[in-house]
Amino acid sequence: MAEIIDGKKISEAIKDEVKAENEILLEKGFKGTLAVVLVGDDPASSVYVKNKKKACEYVGFESLSYEKPSSMTEDELLFLIDELNNDENIDGILVQLPLPPHIDEDKVIAAISPIKDVDGFHVQSVGAMVVGTDGFLPCTPAGIIELLKRYDIKIDGKNCVVVGRSNIVGKPAAILMLRENATVTITHSHTKNLKDICSDADILIVGVGKRHFINSEYVKEGAVVIDVGIHRDENNKLSGDVDFEDVKNKASYITPVPGGVGPMTIAMLMKNCLLSLKRRVGEV
Ligand code: NAP
Repeated sequence: MAEIIDGKKISEAIKDEVKAENEILLEKGFKGTLAVVLVGDDPASSVYVKNKKKACEYVGFESLSYEKPSSMTEDELLFLIDELNNDENIDGILVQLPLPPHIDEDKVIAAISPIKDVDGFHVQSVGAMVVGTDGFLPCTPAGIIELLKRYDIKIDGKNCVVVGRSNIVGKPAAILMLRENATVTITHSHTKNLKDICSDADILIVGVGKRHFINSEYVKEGAVVIDVGIHRDENNKLSGDVDFEDVKNKASYITPVPGGVGPMTIAMLMKNCLLSLKRRVGEV
């Protein structure tokens, strides 16, 4: 039976570390502020936004909430972002995705100032991640690396297969694993022989968006399996892209859903907000 990677515990430890560092900045009179923008009333987005605001409160950041109706136009949203970019008291801007279909997400992400891009989605942040210079790392993939490191799982020299190539999960997860000296294969919906490729992975990262897509036939004996997927059934029960019950007896480590990668996203967002505040006040 695999060791279960406890993302909830690690995420709480990270939030406590951020809180402790932030207390020192608060004593010096510096308070971090995150602006959270939600357009529309998507129930899942509302829950994510609520949890992000709760985390800010816990670590001692101010969170400013901009909850707008789905009738908000793209121009209105771009105008709001411009205001937030120019507000020197704001350290981070987070626009909750997805946006209503009449708003171009890429345009909105591009409008966020890279120095406040705590989600790490701006092309400048992505470029910085690829070349390894200062920027903000995207929270979910950075959370994966943090989980592996805190469980002392060796990445250097390991074969890593990433299933999925989205801009928010697959591609950045692959780049960050490469930065840690893994040998990385990225797979997607056009990949041939996916089972064979996955079966060669020492570390298998799955962000495919299909419930229980990966079963034990895709997993090498003793592999580390990281499940990024989140699916909610009609009874509100969460499950992942990996068939946990089937894979847990073959893997050496596995992340559960819920309680694996999911909680790490907000913890890493708090880390990015702290970094932004430290940069603003010249503490890094
Ligand atoms: P996405 O944008 O839908 O991307 C899915 C990826 O899977 C695509 O690259 C797609 O390939 C690939 N794919 C689809 N079918 C495949 C197949 N049969 N074989 C191989 N690859 C296949 O999803 P996402 O935004 O990356 O999210 C992935 C999962 O992670 C979702 O369950 C989402 O809810 C979850 N998620 C969790 C967090 C968190 O924990 N905080 C954050 C973000 C997302 P193509 O590119 O060829 O279409």
